[in-house]
Amino acid sequence: MGRLVAISNRIPLGDNPSGGLVVALDDALRSSGGLWVGFSGETAEAPADDLTFHDGAAFQRASFDLTPEDHDTYYLGYSNSVLWPVCHGRADLMRILPEYLDGYRRVNERIARMLVPHLRPGDRIWVQDYQLFPLAQELRRLGVTAPIGHFLHIPFPGPTDCATLPNPAELFDWLSHYDLVGFQAQRDLDNFAASARSLSDLEQLSDNRFRVAERDMRAGVFPIGIDAQAFLAEAEGAREEDRMRSLTGAQIMIGVDRLDYSKGIPQRFRAFQALLEGDPSLTEKVMLLQIAPPTRESVDAYQQIREETEHLAGRINGQFATVNWTPIRFIHRPIPRNELAGLYRQARIGLVTPLADGMNLVAKEYVAAQDPADPGVLILSRFAGAAEAMTEALIINPHDPGELAQAMHQAIAMPLDERRSRHAALLRGVVEQDVGWWSKTYLDALA
Ligand code: UDP
Repeated sequence: MGRLVAISNRIPLGDNPSGGLVVALDDALRSSGGLWVGFSGETAEAPADDLTFHDGAAFQRASFDLTPEDHDTYYLGYSNSVLWPVCHGRADLMRILPEYLDGYRRVNERIARMLVPHLRPGDRIWVQDYQLFPLAQELRRLGVTAPIGHFLHIPFPGPTDCATLPNPAELFDWLSHYDLVGFQAQRDLDNFAASARSLSDLEQLSDNRFRVAERDMRAGVFPIGIDAQAFLAEAEGAREEDRMRSLTGAQIMIGVDRLDYSKGIPQRFRAFQALLEGDPSLTEKVMLLQIAPPTRESVDAYQQIREETEHLAGRINGQFATVNWTPIRFIHRPIPRNELAGLYRQARIGLVTPLADGMNLVAKEYVAAQDPADPGVLILSRFAGAAEAMTEALIINPHDPGELAQAMHQAIAMPLDERRSRHAALLRGVVEQDVGWWSKTYLDALA
């Protein structure tokens, strides 16, 4: 089989990749070899117009720099101030400036131009995520005939949200140049089909085949997974590290999310507040550990969510804290994944309550990290892609603080045998549909 060429917005150039997409691609390329191309993370006024190659991995890596203007318009602008909010049901947070779409098209065109000289006969090209929708169209313009696939890591919007995009039909035109478009969940494939019907002249030929302007494309559902074996080993190793529990004596509920408005952190805090208000016997008995590293801080909406979250944590702590106990611990820094594994294992409840999320890998990591003899309980939003398969979690509506507080109560009181049987079923799914399964299933379908 030919070489795999993967392209993503960012490429990690250090040794310890972290973040869902990065770990998944690292794993896929490690097993098949190939080339990974992405943005270096560096901006320069006059970046080189060719890829820079890096040695030292099981596969080749090549990066490019962006101009500050391209970074502002393509990345912070069209990708993260237009597409991200629309795909997460927050069109109200969208900011549309004319230069954003121009910058987005320009960068995709430039990446295609830099990539083409390095392609070889037999290559399969796998484009990742919403920053690179137009890339196949640009590659086709330059004469590339290789199979090109796309995988969308975030939700695909339904017709109402899609209609808020500037020039929505263009999105379907971009996608129609791929041979295969992969989604995280059936919900996304359904939204794609419904939005395409209402906003473009894309014709649906069958459940997963579409045609536009004589071009045929396929779409499918390929839920992404984690490196379950590695995570199990990490958590096993952390077993004796019980420092947190002995320090607090309280049951831990854990949340781990980039501080993004899609993650439902304020809603989670309000539900915790409702829990403490409704049951004073929980005073000093339970705490919420929220790890929320900063992300995209130069976009306004992210400054607002930070202020709202910090304000709310301060208010709830002021309302309930005792001299021995702080109900919410809020950490606004990234924690390395090996440390997270130990913290997940100690936490009696995993809180994964996004308002919208492509998959949510924290849900899978929490399950993989549990001690099967005495596992914790996963509380999972119905709006995470993960909820389609992880049906043995306590599935909740994150907008309803009463419902979420009730689930917290149920999780605190859940008997051991129910915790064990729910966990065993969840773990089976996490191990079977791991990251290797994801890339293999996708790449087999592309072939
Ligand atoms: N993560 C981490 N340190 C942190 C917070 C998160 O390593 O402090 C990792 C987490 O373990 C997971 C990924 O970042 O692997 C987040 O992936 P997810 O799908 O949950 O959300 P995303 O950030 O991609 O929206």
